[in-house]
Amino acid sequence: MDHVLAAAPLVASPVARRIKRALVQAEVARLRERSLAGTAVASPDAAALAESVRAQLAALLTPRPRRVINATGVLLHTNLGRAPLSAAAIAAMSAAAGCCDLELELTSGRRSSRQRHLVALLELLLGAPALVVNNGAAALLLACTALGGPGGVVISRGQMVEIGDGFRIAEMAAAGGTRVWEVGSTNRTHLADYEAALLGQAPGMTAPASALLWVHLSNFRQDGFVHQVALASLAGLAKARGAPLIADLGSGSLGGAPGAEEPTIHDYVAAGADLITCSGDKLLGGPQAGLIVGAAALVERCRRHPLARALRPDKTTIAALHATAVAHALEGPPELPLHHLAAASVAGLRARAGALAAALGWPESCVRATTATIGGGSLPGETLEGVGLVAPAGASPDRLAARLRCGEPPVIGRVHEGALILDLRSVPAAEDAALLAALRAALGDDGAERQR
Ligand SMILES: *Cc1c(COP(=O)(O)O)cnc(C)c1O
Repeated sequence: MDHVLAAAPLVASPVARRIKRALVQAEVARLRERSLAGTAVASPDAAALAESVRAQLAALLTPRPRRVINATGVLLHTNLGRAPLSAAAIAAMSAAAGCCDLELELTSGRRSSRQRHLVALLELLLGAPALVVNNGAAALLLACTALGGPGGVVISRGQMVEIGDGFRIAEMAAAGGTRVWEVGSTNRTHLADYEAALLGQAPGMTAPASALLWVHLSNFRQDGFVHQVALASLAGLAKARGAPLIADLGSGSLGGAPGAEEPTIHDYVAAGADLITCSGDKLLGGPQAGLIVGAAALVERCRRHPLARALRPDKTTIAALHATAVAHALEGPPELPLHHLAAASVAGLRARAGALAAALGWPESCVRATTATIGGGSLPGETLEGVGLVAPAGASPDRLAARLRCGEPPVIGRVHEGALILDLRSVPAAEDAALLAALRAALGDDGAERQR
């Protein structure tokens, strides 16, 4: 141990000695395990061990997450950090990062709510009172927990969506201890199914359910012999039975987006949803956040629930969300990266792709029309025209994709039908030079490898 810690690569490292020691111990334990398992191990060399630990330390200390170029054609890519933030949002986060008046009313000197920075502006934008939480899942959890007692919430088996990484809406709705009653079948659910649950007469029930949950099918489509109850009909039943109706929209819409006929948050409120939950980043193109929007008394119930404290957003999120909400409140299309990407003209994308292809010496046939998406659970099948740069045949697309991912900056494309596509719909024009440099580096490596 002392030998390894005293070796040149580790002596030079500024990392605390106890951390170096822990990594060396782990490395030695691994060697011992392999040796016990009978895998031949060359006698451990202090310098080699130290070099291995130094490399691990370097990787641990590199700032992360790393900036990447999103050439997937999915504008709100959950794995790539969803919305790129506006300069104004980044500046607001930075300003709030120090001490700020997060929960202090400056005029009175009294304690106050962090929500106050956002509620007035959000109510104007959304058309109803709102509460901000950590993310969309938190909004769903809080709404179902605050309104689901004592009888539980009712969900159609046809709306039991899994949203990604194995997380399921019905399980998240129940995670706060709320009983979730499934009604209907996978393909068909009727108003009478919900009504039976509100009367406490669905299978297994001994008391009436307390709330209804309607879920937007954000990532799949039902076709064939199917029936789901329209939100407005469900709202009528909820009203008649005095049970609140929660609608989880996932993304939702503020209206005005080009080509989007998706109902707005306000339309859902008008249709009778008592409480709407959605992802603030999907809706607004801002920082990760969740929104609970709707009837003032129900929003207040959520705000006073103990879980609200556990799910509250931090100061930098509030700052970025405020700057993003301001962009939506100004006349004209919002000055946000997401909206710039979505609004870029196909001709402009073609010109950029053509210039990149020319600079790489690729034929014009490498520039192709693609299908891009907003992503983040916007309407399934709702697509944008994109323009892709398709790597010419030669290099293995998976290998080239891997090399681009490991470049500087990493570039994330998609491999489709045996070709690597770099979709410019999700790449800001300002990143073209970096994309070109990354492509040159990755292709250069490839050339060298093929000659070997
Ligand atoms: C995305 C999504 C959520 C979760 O939102 P996050 O902000 O990712 O937590 C919940 N419900 C639906 C329908 C969604 O599409």
